[in-house]
Amino acid sequence: MPRVILLGPPGAGKGTQGAKLASHFAIPTFATGDILREAKANQTPLGLEAARYMDEGALVPDAVVVGLVQNCLQQDAAQHGWILDGFPRTLAQAQALDEMLGQQASGYDQVLFLNAEDDVIVPRLHQRALEKGRTDDTPAVIKARLEEYRAKTYPLVAYYQAKGHLRKVDGTGDIATVFASLCDLLRSPDV
Ligand code: AMP
Repeated sequence: MPRVILLGPPGAGKGTQGAKLASHFAIPTFATGDILREAKANQTPLGLEAARYMDEGALVPDAVVVGLVQNCLQQDAAQHGWILDGFPRTLAQAQALDEMLGQQASGYDQVLFLNAEDDVIVPRLHQRALEKGRTDDTPAVIKARLEEYRAKTYPLVAYYQAKGHLRKVDGTGDIATVFASLCDLLRSPDV
């Protein structure tokens, strides 16, 4: 069963594709953004702390999300595969994940880099704002999130490339085409 990290800028389609892959392979998907939004809506201590960063388009501190993902990966449901959507997002998070998985024979099977350029993702994010009303899809916050992505998350492409785990997928196509490419990669032998 696959263990997959979905990497890519906001608006590349990680959430959509992560949910489809999870249902296809019957494994859980852990989307840190969704978990944090739920905690925020429920006004839990985690949600209240995270909201301060999310509303500005900044990343939530590493220790907070690392603890959260640790809990997710310990669940029974996660013992036969999982999808991580939106984690890791910093080098420190990637290293923490390596440590978490260090005891396992193969920590993760694939890092799928779902990429799309700004001219595709910015209109998608504006459209999502209209459809879903996410408070962090306003123009100013979108700009901040893209800056955070470039500064802190994009370097993970080189990190996983150096480990030989990274596979690139063009995220600009329609949902079915991108999904087919992801499934092909997950079925094909190691990188
Ligand atoms: P997303 O739904 O993945 O776009 O995430 C929404 C927001 O949640 C981000 O802009 C961050 O503020 C926060 N967030 C989600 N995942 C992480 C993460 N791995 N590290 C830090 N902050 C995160």
